[in-house]
Formats: sequence, structure tokens, C-alpha cells
Amino acid sequence: MAVISHRMSQLGTENAFKLGDDIQRCVDMGLDVIRFNLGAPDFRSAPHLNRVAMESLEAGRSGYCDPAGILPFREAIAAHVTRTRGIEVSPSRVVVTPGAKPPIGYTLQTYVDEGDEVIYPSPGFPIYESWVQFTGAVPVPLPLSDDRDFAFNADDLAELITERTKVIILCSPSNPTGGVLSRDELAGIAELIRTRCRPDIRIYSDEIYEQILFDGLEHESIASHPGMAERTVIASGHSKGFAMTGWRLGWAVLPTEEEAALFKQININIMSCVPPFLQDAGAAAYEDPASAPVVARMVAAFQRRRDWIVPALNEVPGVRCRKPKGAFYVFPDVSGLCGRLGVHEAHAALPGDARGRVTPAGMLQMFLLYRYGVATMDRASFGRIGAEGQDFLRMSIANSMDDIRRGVGRIAEAAGDAAGFAGFVSAEAARGAKGLFA
Ligand code: PLP
Repeated sequence: MAVISHRMSQLGTENAFKLGDDIQRCVDMGLDVIRFNLGAPDFRSAPHLNRVAMESLEAGRSGYCDPAGILPFREAIAAHVTRTRGIEVSPSRVVVTPGAKPPIGYTLQTYVDEGDEVIYPSPGFPIYESWVQFTGAVPVPLPLSDDRDFAFNADDLAELITERTKVIILCSPSNPTGGVLSRDELAGIAELIRTRCRPDIRIYSDEIYEQILFDGLEHESIASHPGMAERTVIASGHSKGFAMTGWRLGWAVLPTEEEAALFKQININIMSCVPPFLQDAGAAAYEDPASAPVVARMVAAFQRRRDWIVPALNEVPGVRCRKPKGAFYVFPDVSGLCGRLGVHEAHAALPGDARGRVTPAGMLQMFLLYRYGVATMDRASFGRIGAEGQDFLRMSIANSMDDIRRGVGRIAEAAGDAAGFAGFVSAEAARGAKGLFA
């Protein structure tokens, strides 16, 4: 009998967190690291919301509370969803979770049996693939490509739907691509789901970037389309739009009260409740008119940075970058850069095992980090299945303009350093089993 369950070998991870050890090693070596890896706004939570939490704590709201979330917060969420998605939502269909990540696992545990198929965007948030595999479901990645601005339509989805399809995951605006599904694309997808899918399928609509859209675009949800609200789990929260990643405030709106009761039950089994003083601030985020200008200022800053970085990256030889429509990431194609530096050849020369563990873009990512102090994430960090042959990096623009400029400057310098890359790979090989690509 093994110590660790077989199931644990199926659990994936989020490399944006895992890369922290490598970054620390670089910092310890004296490198000044520019962190394009993390998906957290470089803004603080708003003073008016901090104040609500502190006053609530001082007022003694520091004990257990309703595992579904306190009623005033669920009321605020329901009103927000009704206002922004145009659908009637009652607080009894809302469950508060510690961030927008837990509802992904809750959805897979609630709706999926072994062998059921789950369609999810790839590249996409890595936790989708992780939970699909952990629950023994069949992963069905929906490939997104840069020549279509990382969007997709009903025809693309239709090719993947079968009798076994149980959950379809959507994410718009998207991490890691910044792609956005338009109202028309969502209408087509809704029509397809109405006509082609079993009535008991569920859509998981990850809308955590709902506030972060550029060029005047407005957030669109699949749940706003006819027949969808009764099939869709909408998930969002405060981490991105309100720059509150560490607060762990998220929520899900379930199609029925009965399903909401199951999410509440998972909360009870795992973490009992989200602290009430945090939820008080969460409600204020939706209800206090001071929030809107704070969010608007942050989104405007992201847009300015996007407008600077996209052309700047396109100036770097071997890099091709699309303009994201939302979220705060750019997702450049770096296959030309890999070609110039000899990354594909170095990858092909790795021993078999190591070759399976790291991708060419992953080798480039490590070169940029350890030799140029620029932390990025490779394509395979956003779904490994079907990622072969795709050389992309994700870079978060939740960084100061100054750091963004310096970071792109360093990448441009690295683009001319084929000798440095070759030296890096041989130095790692010389470290034997301790080497990065062993
Ligand atoms: N969904 C997507 C698409 C994300 O990018 C993230 C965070 O990066 C999450 C969910 C998780 O958000 P939270 O930090 O609120 O758990």
C-alpha cells in the first residue's frame, strides 16, 4: 500500500505560484527580477473598502457565519449579477467562496462522474485541467489560437460536443490570453448548447475578469442568453476587478437553490465560512459609489500599459503579440525567438524524460528568468494537454510602466544572445541531477 493515494498523482498546479521558488533563488543570487508572472493587480485594495473591513472587525464581526455567505453580501452579489447580466438572481442561489478558484473544484465535484467529458479552453486557467483530471473526468481541451484573437465560436465547440459532455467551461475575458467572447459569439454558443446538448449539462462561466475590458467593451455573460441561466454556474469575485487577491473573496451563482445548497455543503466540509468582516467589505465593493472610479482608474492604467507593451514586443525580433481585449495579460508567440536562440535544438537534445517535462517555451522562460531577471510563464502552464509545438509566453501587465519598459528591454537584449542561451543550457547540464532541465 503506497503512502500517497493514486488520486493525488492526478492533481495539477498553478505554475504562477510554483515559480516563486525559482524567483527567490534568482533574488538570492542578486538578480533584480521583474515579475511578469503573477496574476495579481499591482494596486492596493481601495481605502473605502479597507475601512469597512477594519470597522467590522472592531465591531466584533470576527466569528463563524453562514457557510453560504452572509445575507447582505449575497444580496449585493445577486443585485450586481441582475444589474450586469440582466437576469433575475435571488440570494438563495449565491454561495460565497474564498476566491473564485474554489468554485472550479466545487463544480467538477458536484456535476461530474468518472468518464464524463469536460470541455475547457486551452490555453486556459490551469486549475480547470487539474480538477478535470483529479475527478477522473475526460479532459476535452478547446484549442484557442492567436490568429482568431483567442476567441472561438459555436462551430469550434460543436466539434467537441458528444453524448458524454457534462460540463463546458468558458472564461471571458480570459487568462492567459486576454481574449474576449463577443455577444454574437456567445449567442451562437448558447444556441448550440440549447439544441445539441443534454438538458442536464452545466456551463461553468468564469467571469473573474468581468471589470477588466478595454476600448469601451462591456462584459458579456453566456448566462444572459435565453435558456442559459438555468444551466450556468457564474463564478466571479473581488480578486482582479477590485485588486483584492489576498482577501480571498469570490462567489458562485448556481442555476438552482438545490445546487447552491451543495456548494454550501462543500464549504461546510472544507472551510466552514469566509470571514464575515471581509464579506462586509465585499458588499461595499458593489454598493458604495466610490468603487466605480477606483476600478476605472485601474483598468485605464492596464489599457495604457497594453498599448505600450504590444507594439514594443512586436519590435523584438522573433516575437509576435496580439492585442488583448481584456484581463491584464499579453500572450506573445515566441516561436521566432525560440528559433533565433536555438531553443528547439536544445530541447530536442534533452534526455527523453526531461524533454517530456519541459517545453521549448519553458526553457526560454528559465533562460529569461535566470539570465535576464524576467519572470514569465510558458504556454504549458495553461493546460499541458495539446500544448505541444506551441511557443507562447504569458506576461502580466500588472506591473509599473517602468518595470514593463525595463522588462521588454531585457527580452530584446536576450533575443540577440544565442551564445548566452547555449551557455545557460550547458551550465544546467553540467549541474547533473540538480540542473533545471534534468
Ligand atoms: N479564474 C481565473 C481565470 C483566474 O485567472 C484566476 C486567478 O488567477 C482565478 C479564477 C482565481 O481567482 P481567485 O484568486 O479569486 O481565487
